[in-house]
Amino acid sequence: MNAILAPNVPFAVRLDTNGRSPTQAIRFVTESYVRMVLAGFALAPASLIAYLFFFQNPALKFEHHAFHIVAIAVATWAGLFVTYVTWRCYRASGEPLLRWMTLGFLGFALIYALHGAFTGFADHNIWLFILYGPASRLVMALLLLVALLSYGSTPDAVDRRTKTRPWLTWIGLFLLVDVVVAAAAHSPIVSNPALRLSMEGGALAISALNVTMLLLRRIRSPLMVIFAISVTAFGLASLAFILARPWNHMWWLAHAIFAAGFFLLSYGVVQAFHTTKSFSTIYSQEELMARLADETARTESALRELQRTNQMLEQLAATDPLTGASNRRRFVEQVEAEIHRVKRGGAPFSVLALDLDKFKSINDRYGHQVGDDVLKTFVKKCVAAIRPFDGVARVGGEEFMILLPQTALEAARIIAERVRTVIATTSFESGTQRLTATVSIGASQSGLDGDAIDEILRVADKRLYSAKHQGRNRVIAA
Ligand code: GH3
Ligand code: MG
Ligand code: MG
Repeated sequence: MNAILAPNVPFAVRLDTNGRSPTQAIRFVTESYVRMVLAGFALAPASLIAYLFFFQNPALKFEHHAFHIVAIAVATWAGLFVTYVTWRCYRASGEPLLRWMTLGFLGFALIYALHGAFTGFADHNIWLFILYGPASRLVMALLLLVALLSYGSTPDAVDRRTKTRPWLTWIGLFLLVDVVVAAAAHSPIVSNPALRLSMEGGALAISALNVTMLLLRRIRSPLMVIFAISVTAFGLASLAFILARPWNHMWWLAHAIFAAGFFLLSYGVVQAFHTTKSFSTIYSQEELMARLADETARTESALRELQRTNQMLEQLAATDPLTGASNRRRFVEQVEAEIHRVKRGGAPFSVLALDLDKFKSINDRYGHQVGDDVLKTFVKKCVAAIRPFDGVARVGGEEFMILLPQTALEAARIIAERVRTVIATTSFESGTQRLTATVSIGASQSGLDGDAIDEILRVADKRLYSAKHQGRNRVIAA
């Protein structure tokens, strides 16, 4: 068993519950332990065989035809069900291993059924009854060996998977085996015990070869571990049949061991059916955990990236690209938030409406590019002249607004005056050009000049135009 459980994929994470990687030594010990447990589990039936071999009373028999018929009928129906599920997996994945496994189960069901059906012949022609058992096990062992040999081969093309003819040919072959076994049971060669022994012994040898090759090829996919344990059980069942006499305890034990292997393998097939529909690409829990950890880390990093991008987009959507000031939409949002704050009992806020004086003539004289540079510098100077929580917004070509939270009109007038002075004394630079500019400002205060956003902004605008009319480069706050 050693080879099949050694991990074959370098896992991204192997952490214990404290988040530390287990040491090499602990890992080695636990992995060896798991291999031993699995090997012990696979070989456990051998101990039962040995027990019965040494201690069974040869006189003890349980000959119960009805029970046997029911047991074999159950096995046949289970066989057909597993055939169907395996075939569905094969149809989906096209794995040759699954094609051969389907055939193995189908052959087993079609031959083994007669072992149950002919139970009544046990007293007249014991061979007609007995021989279908080893025949079905031999056929299945052979097909499972071919299945293993095809492990890892390229999947069949889709049109090949859906062809019915090959399946019908195989069903014909299995029925032919049924006929040949019936003929053998009626011919004199059947009295030679070598016939049954060679069939049962053949099944045993082929199963042993199958498991050996699986170990030598170091196949470690979790479902192939189940495959290996099941085939071991089939081999041990054949051994028990060789040592048994019909109806004695060893004989029933052989049936039970075979059934255990069969059900275990069917469990593996259903696992594949519910996951990847493949025997080779099913993931171990360890791999799944590692993949999950990887995916979670990837998702989290993608989420953080998305949040950053969203923030950036939000910022872009709220910002004027030329000057970096807020745009009108953001400014309106901020004023509305301020109005709510004032309604909840907060101190009043003020707004300033600013318009660069005679800006058209700056454009006309120096060109649009210089005008742009003036707008950029203007915003920088405004930002430097106000408090960090005040905000500058560009609401038109050379029109701006400044929100002054928790600021009464008189304080707003002082800030506006500071801005006006800074602008009037700035030497705007653009390329080789040096120029001056001035700004006119109107101020209004929430409550004093209105409670709604429209009123407050309209009053600030009105005062701005008063400033223009009164000669520009001034602040009007009342
Ligand atoms: P006033 O003192 O009355 O405000 O005079 P003004 O020339 O500033 O006013 P007007 O509204 O007549 O002209 C505004 C000018 O601003 C017109 C337009 O060319 C210029 N402008 C608007 N947006 C931009 C811009 O993004 N870049 C540049 N360079 N100029 C702009
Ligand atoms: Mg202007
Ligand atoms: Mg204007």
